[in-house]
Amino acid sequence: MRYVSSRNTAIYTDAPGAVLAGLAPDGGLFTVDSYPFFTLDEINGLINKKYSEAAAFILSRFMEGYDNEELSLFTEQAYSRFSHEDTARVVYAGENTWSLELFHGPTCAFKDFALQMLPRLLVSAAKKKGAAGETVILVATSGDTGKAALEGFKDVEGTKIGVFYPDGGVSQVQRLQMTTQEGGNVNVFAVKGNFDDAQSGVKAIFNDKELSARLAKSGKALSSANSINWGRLAPQIAYYFWAYSRLLKQGAIKLGDKVDFCVPTGNFGNILAGYLAKKSGLPIERLVCASNKNDVLTDFFESGIYDRNRPLYQTGSPSMDILVSSNLERLIFMLCGEEKTRELMGKLSADGRYEIGKEILAKLKDEGFVAFRADDNAAAEEINARWNSDEKYLCDPHTAVAMKAARMAGTAERPMIVASTASPFKFASVMLEALTGEKADGGVELLEKLEKLTGHKAPAQLASLGEKQERFNKVIEKEDMSAEAERWINK
Ligand SMILES: *Cc1c(COP(=O)(O)O)cnc(C)c1O
Repeated sequence: MRYVSSRNTAIYTDAPGAVLAGLAPDGGLFTVDSYPFFTLDEINGLINKKYSEAAAFILSRFMEGYDNEELSLFTEQAYSRFSHEDTARVVYAGENTWSLELFHGPTCAFKDFALQMLPRLLVSAAKKKGAAGETVILVATSGDTGKAALEGFKDVEGTKIGVFYPDGGVSQVQRLQMTTQEGGNVNVFAVKGNFDDAQSGVKAIFNDKELSARLAKSGKALSSANSINWGRLAPQIAYYFWAYSRLLKQGAIKLGDKVDFCVPTGNFGNILAGYLAKKSGLPIERLVCASNKNDVLTDFFESGIYDRNRPLYQTGSPSMDILVSSNLERLIFMLCGEEKTRELMGKLSADGRYEIGKEILAKLKDEGFVAFRADDNAAAEEINARWNSDEKYLCDPHTAVAMKAARMAGTAERPMIVASTASPFKFASVMLEALTGEKADGGVELLEKLEKLTGHKAPAQLASLGEKQERFNKVIEKEDMSAEAERWINK
């Protein structure tokens, strides 16, 4: 198995090489050029494994160049920080739909699954490749990625992590999660501007060759923790197999029965991991791509046209507010190959738009992709519908978008498994507004309100945020990001 650039398969490496590089040198995304295959017997064998064991088994075939012992150690360490004994709980949510709860990690969002693994994979890759010195991770975040990356990299030897978030652009809980971050190698900056400003600033730092050269002199190299890294994608494949094995264990399906998955989608990383699971033998029929009002992907799956030339809306599910879903490039490569990918990505960067044509669109449908959109009102309706049903299921605004999409896709024929990507308490204000119909502005005090209203307990790491010391309160101009970063890196 090779890890090839999606734009040129003559550029390839092994898994540690892909993790270390992040992006391929030609700007492509490292992707496997063939798929491992898991037999039904092997899938059945997951039933009595712990999550960390199952994940190490699945990962061993997607991570050539790492040995099995280290993968077992990494998954054991990474997933020991999750609060539920199943790591990812799978629970019935009514209407032939199951919820795959991916939010029991240290930061209460599904990104913990990958970002608790990435630092371990990265440090090991650096050792294997003889890359001495310090790796400096820089992240621009609209909320969840920043905190998950901080928790993953805090006090990891040989690394430093700096996070930039838009001042006033994240939820109160998300802001406190970041400003109270512990660890000796971390820093957090609020940037005057929106998420795009923060992201452009970080990109400019990465593209600054002189800065890189100065840092290299003192043995430091910049790296990114965003979801274009293979080391973030691969750990997510495991929970698709896990979900299937839990349905087997619960007696909801028989071995070989097909299931559907529905995923609240932003950068297309999570759902692409599901597609990789399907290509590797997991009996998946449909992959339902759920979007909020930012429905560039829904349009794409309906028309075959990807067009980022449109306004970006702020919604109640901010982690899905995105115009360019980077991981879609990998799907295009998997379906059409390097030449087509090069052509289409060229058009995307030149015109912000490309068209895949009827044939490829038909292929996407054959592969099981369907897409639906649900705006904030529809999500609020869905939060209430699930909460007022027999199952009394409480889902966060992102998950609600997917639950609604699942309903639109139809769940009568096969079990539908919905990826539940965040704790409802992370978005307490949106939850309270949906459940009570009244405005709910505020910060951590809203957690208690949501507890009272629902009888659910807020995760401890969120409930204690109000008592923690805020360590990072620096607000900087976007023009100063590079200088601030360099000063901190060299401290
Ligand atoms: C990041 C995120 C998503 C989107 O996942 P992608 O892999 O980017 O498609 C959905 N929900 C939540 C809560 C997230 O944090």
